[in-house]
Amino acid sequence: MKSIVISSLLMALLLCSCHRNKTDVAQHADITAEMAYEGVNNYCHSEYDWSIAEENPSMMSVTMGEETETEYKVIFRSYTGALVNFYVDKASGKTRMVESVPTLHVDSTIGTIDILDYVGKAKPTIHIYRYGTFPEAKAKQLKAVLEKVYPSVTLAGEAIELPQDCYYKPRDRYKGTGLLDDLKKLRHGGYALGLTNKIIYDENEISPTFGIFGISYMGDSVSVISSLRPKTFQPLSDEDMEELMLHELGHAFGLPHCKDERCMMVDAEHGYKFAQTQSFCPSCRNYLNSKGWLF
Ligand SMILES: [Zn+2]
Ligand SMILES: [Zn+2]
Repeated sequence: MKSIVISSLLMALLLCSCHRNKTDVAQHADITAEMAYEGVNNYCHSEYDWSIAEENPSMMSVTMGEETETEYKVIFRSYTGALVNFYVDKASGKTRMVESVPTLHVDSTIGTIDILDYVGKAKPTIHIYRYGTFPEAKAKQLKAVLEKVYPSVTLAGEAIELPQDCYYKPRDRYKGTGLLDDLKKLRHGGYALGLTNKIIYDENEISPTFGIFGISYMGDSVSVISSLRPKTFQPLSDEDMEELMLHELGHAFGLPHCKDERCMMVDAEHGYKFAQTQSFCPSCRNYLNSKGWLF
């Protein structure tokens, strides 16, 4: 009996899941992996033409490669198929750039930069993507809400396909972390927010396919939210969806759940309910301000 009570309580209160970023930052390093990524990404956006990626975001990318004791590797992939590997020295920030044309088996060093010249320059952009048949008008509305609190937001014109390998047919739902991994390819050095009108799930102690409202990789720049209530399949109100979006992006920017019941980042255990609160507490607000949010 007791376990049933606990289960239904959890069901009622669990709003979302967040997964901690598993990237380990090397000890004693002056340059963090985040700085290496940010610097290379800023460099690539200032040096290369990304207009083709506006139409087709998967054509160009900046991704983290394998790191060694002394260096991070960050890989720029151009739409031509050429790669530039950036080897960032963890202590000094000195960065070697090695161009590689895989089809020709040619690697050549093309120069060096100081990564610190490219860190902290631009506010990363939040890129919004519609999955499948998520309505464009609704996405535009969410974008407008976000623009009031964050200076750089885009909405991709074309909807993107829901990855079929994330689909769990018996319960007609998509794996949340699968969508997050998909969205990671579309961050372009900023953040990616996916919008879906399908049920998404995460594994927990109640069920391996537990329906959730939204999910984010904590501090790792990706969130996805659903416009359907996972238990009733009823659509969320505009207001609830907006609040859900800000809550999940809070996680994506690195905020954990908050103890303040009046804060939008409040923990599920503290009885998170939609529309109970429409603001962040001073502490969460300060944190987001330091990340470029405007309040
Ligand atoms: Zn949460
Ligand atoms: Zn808070």
